[in-house]
Amino acid sequence: MIAPGSTLGLLGGGQLGRMFTVAARTLGYRVTVLDPDPLSPAAEFATGHLNTAYTHPVSLDELAQTCAAVTTEFENAPAEALLALAERTVVRPSGNAVAVAQDRSREKGFIATHGLPVGPYADIRAEADIEAALARVKLPAILKTARFGYDGKGQAAIASRADLERVFAEWKRVPCVLEERLALELEISVILARAADGTVEVFPVAENRHARGILDVTIAPARIPAALAAEATMLATRLAQALEYVGVLAVEMFVVGGRLLVNEIAPRPHNSGHYTIDACRTSQFEQQVRVLCGLPLGDPTLHTPAVMVNLLGDIWGAGEPRWDAVLRHAGAHLHLYGKREARPGRKMGHVTVCEPDPARALEVALAIRRDLGIAESA
Ligand code: ADP
Ligand code: MG
Repeated sequence: MIAPGSTLGLLGGGQLGRMFTVAARTLGYRVTVLDPDPLSPAAEFATGHLNTAYTHPVSLDELAQTCAAVTTEFENAPAEALLALAERTVVRPSGNAVAVAQDRSREKGFIATHGLPVGPYADIRAEADIEAALARVKLPAILKTARFGYDGKGQAAIASRADLERVFAEWKRVPCVLEERLALELEISVILARAADGTVEVFPVAENRHARGILDVTIAPARIPAALAAEATMLATRLAQALEYVGVLAVEMFVVGGRLLVNEIAPRPHNSGHYTIDACRTSQFEQQVRVLCGLPLGDPTLHTPAVMVNLLGDIWGAGEPRWDAVLRHAGAHLHLYGKREARPGRKMGHVTVCEPDPARALEVALAIRRDLGIAESA
């Protein structure tokens, strides 16, 4: 067990890292953030900030020497950096697990190989793969870059072979995955923590609504039959076991025709788990600290139904939003990430509404959304 007072290292210093850092500092740990952004949201709460590239040897050396354990808050943390650090200190999750999650093609292959359900897809690495891909995947489809996509970025709608050839060429033929565009009934996510001894604790299944490829609203618990929630929990647990995962893992799933398909995984806490801060007995960020340090896992039970609304930079158009629209609701919790510059689509904060009556939580959350001037989802 890594005792409070020790220093923890964090690769990446965005909002997820900020909330991890708050949880770690609350438990009495020191935190060193490695992030090239001098205005890193996590660094504001950290005890140290290595303000360099993620692969900078001097920074990695510093983390290895001073940190009892190192974790990450974004999947594009270079897996090689994690693997190198793992030779000198505790690293959770492992570079190998992160490497699977950061490449859609490896990720889908891993899910399928382990007998877990995925939608129709095909890898496209060269022009010559297009023929076979179109034989496997019905149009309309979505082309996604295998690496570095997030919040709907690195994706294009494909209606024809000509579209596919054009977009693949425009993207300079980087490795891609072609996916059938599915008729989604619902999107859900399962976030869990798996400890080094294999113990797993799973947060309640969350129901997610996206707008323009970005998470908009999360409803917890998801309004799905108990049997489907149990199956989602089982699938996520099997995935974590297959990955020999140690850390907090998020699994995004689609409900199509009443059945579950795994979409993607994130080797870290997830935007759809922000509700756990205010609505669960242990938050996903405290859980990340606990797994990292080998402390007993916390109880993920939901104590109050909750609805989370993402706050994107778009609502800063006319200056600072009117926070009284949030703060006048007794059940609303406002979280802002301290980002200086509000850009459209940039995640600036979130609101979680906790109410004993789930219908009331949704009603208040949607009223806040409206009052803040958030555009209706498509
Ligand atoms: P990321 O979250 O990394 O940007 P996702 O694969 O999760 O990438 O895609 C973002 C959103 O786009 C999903 O949450 C879903 O709303 C939609 N989407 C992605 N893939 C499909 C698909 N195959 N069929 C229908 N909708 C999809
Ligand atoms: Mg996603």
